[in-house]
Amino acid sequence: MPHTIQISVRPLVEYVFRSGSITSGFRTATTLTEGTRAHQQVQREYGEQDQKEVFLETEFPYEDLIFAVEGRCDGLIIGDGSSPVMIDEIKSTSGSLDDINEDTYPVHWAQAQMYAYMYAKLHGAPEMAVQLTYFQIPSSEMKRFRRTFSFTELEQFVQEVAAAYAPYARLLRDHAERRDESIRKLSFPFPAYRSGQRRLMGAVYKTIGEGRRLFAKAPTGIGKTISTLFPSIKAMGEGIVKRIYYLTAKTITRTAAEEAVALMESGGLHMHTVTLTAKDKICFSEEEGCGQESCIFSEGYYDRINGAILDLLQHETTITRPVIEAYARKHQVCPFEFSLDAAYAADAVICDYNYVYDPRVSFKRLQEDVKKRSVVLVDEAHNLVDRARSMFSAELHKSMFLNIQRAYKERSPGLYLAAKKVNNRFIVLRKVSGEEERMVGSYQPEMLDELLEEFVMHAEAELVTGQGGEEADELLECYFAAQAYLRISKLYDERFVTYAEMEGSEVFLKLFCLDPSYLLQQAGKNYLSTVFFSATLTPLMYYRDMLGAEEEDYSLSIPSPFSHEQLDVRLMPVSTRYKDRDRSKEAIVKMLDKLVKEKPVNTLIFLPSYPYMQSVYDDFVALNPGLQTQVQGHLMREEERELFLSAFRAEAEEPLVGFAVMGGIFSEGIDLKGARLESVVVVGVGLPQLSFENDIIKEYFDRNEKNGYDYAYVYPGMNKVLQAGGRLIRSEEDRGTLVLVDDRFQNRQYHALLPEEWRQYTRI
Ligand code: SF4
Repeated sequence: MPHTIQISVRPLVEYVFRSGSITSGFRTATTLTEGTRAHQQVQREYGEQDQKEVFLETEFPYEDLIFAVEGRCDGLIIGDGSSPVMIDEIKSTSGSLDDINEDTYPVHWAQAQMYAYMYAKLHGAPEMAVQLTYFQIPSSEMKRFRRTFSFTELEQFVQEVAAAYAPYARLLRDHAERRDESIRKLSFPFPAYRSGQRRLMGAVYKTIGEGRRLFAKAPTGIGKTISTLFPSIKAMGEGIVKRIYYLTAKTITRTAAEEAVALMESGGLHMHTVTLTAKDKICFSEEEGCGQESCIFSEGYYDRINGAILDLLQHETTITRPVIEAYARKHQVCPFEFSLDAAYAADAVICDYNYVYDPRVSFKRLQEDVKKRSVVLVDEAHNLVDRARSMFSAELHKSMFLNIQRAYKERSPGLYLAAKKVNNRFIVLRKVSGEEERMVGSYQPEMLDELLEEFVMHAEAELVTGQGGEEADELLECYFAAQAYLRISKLYDERFVTYAEMEGSEVFLKLFCLDPSYLLQQAGKNYLSTVFFSATLTPLMYYRDMLGAEEEDYSLSIPSPFSHEQLDVRLMPVSTRYKDRDRSKEAIVKMLDKLVKEKPVNTLIFLPSYPYMQSVYDDFVALNPGLQTQVQGHLMREEERELFLSAFRAEAEEPLVGFAVMGGIFSEGIDLKGARLESVVVVGVGLPQLSFENDIIKEYFDRNEKNGYDYAYVYPGMNKVLQAGGRLIRSEEDRGTLVLVDDRFQNRQYHALLPEEWRQYTRI
């Protein structure tokens, strides 16, 4: 039976015809992409019979394959019938039209020819004309190239395209068969299910089957990673799921997902799983910028990438960072772009939240039909609230534009003027503010978007043609900030505020997303199904609300699999409120001293801030000079963090007492099992510091008939408490002492937010 490949025109021709280098630092820029406005301007010139945005589809065989291709062409020039029907392919650019000649972009011809073939086949046209229209955005000038093809020529062309794509298509076909077979035979990789695990897996499977969303509060120890991945993989084997996105907030949780996949692989699973690593971490180059002049891995990237991907997919399944790096070096391609290209071909992708949710970095080339069959698994989903807030917010500084204005006065009058206009707009803002240091409003500054668009246009032209150097780096940064602002500006609604802060001559402007729920909901809408899971989605209604749940979405709350006997909970009801900290410190230090003497085991003490932690630490060490201690540093490098954690050894002769900040790097996602950690102390209820931004979040939710204080302070704070305390019992074998220090834990509201197994405490 011939195998059918469903594919859109663009990815097909891009695969076959892309060539050359990664040309500049701004890969996602709008140069040579279909700027909607430019399209509309060209299409306005069309005659009455002509058509725009025409959907076309066709099928054609090639050897053992059938290509089912679809796409939307920009224009169909029917004319008066005296000449062949013409496909118009519009490309907008902010670079110079002088740099574009007929043969500059073979991929554009290929795209238009493919549409021409599709139209001709459908309408029986013996001949077709093809036109490329290059539209220069700043000047609205156009440059056009035309060619005519007979149907036979077009047929030959599509056969050539198919021949070039076939090895890749066959590889994917053979892989899919092997993968599905391996999934059918795959059994759960543990001899028994842990308590609650089967329930979670069942809920995930049902949710995917029904194409819904699930909000699952599932405690530590239940094996959340495997319980969400396994049913998703099973659904893939049944043809329901095309791809799985496993999203995490931290590198450490990415490793857990990789380990779960590796475990299933050892049980026979054959699946391509790609882990994405941030560009700045995986980049090979010492130099700044990705241009071909500065980086050999960008030079000729597109000439080598198909070979690199084929090699990778033929020989590897678990494609982690070291695997990406090894193949990227072998084929001399940029590891970051390579990992993205591999992700578009993978069965599962393990990556940060932002690849799905951030409008600035999300998978741009992801086909809608793949999206509709993709499952998103959001690990530690409580982190997504804050992360989404920052993904959907944007900031600008006046000084950025002033610097560009100064640097480009002579070199680029257009750019100089555009930067000047933005800078002047900021000056007006500063004047309007009068003596005020801060202004808050629910509207965006008038005209700013238009001025920024003009700036972006000139900046792009300069970045394409300019000479680089320090100014170019600054321009690139400013260009990205302006682009980000414009992108967020289009999402702006009643869930945002705008605020400006003046300091001397500087003006800082922010579009601040207060409630990310709607945008999260929209970003996830086109995926088949999403599972949000965490041990601390408490209270569940708050997280459902903030993560954009709809009424029909499922919720699941699984009790802890651990017994009460494993945990000795104590409560010290003293005030740790900011104003009382000096007064209560001595009692807390004495309690800690007593605790480590009574229980000489590895202990971690979490405090709400660095200064407070340092001062408690100093007093504690003064009382216990001989004891082994360590304290979290402000900005710890990866090696320092590892050292901090590896110092907690199960077989150590002397216990270790560590001090860390609640909500910091050690209070979440770390796993110190058994004797590596047997006592945890959590000081305070974790409330975020009173701040201007938190206050406007509070006011916003108050206005929207919610409890603003809870939404802005209590719930995010208690999440940190639950995460920090959750470091203690990680498995059925773990035993330990948890001390909660704060009188507010006795209040009904805070008490109700504690896990059931923490509520039976001994007061000390
Ligand atoms: S290796 Fe680094 S500098 Fe080179 S293209 Fe990739 S990200 Fe850019």
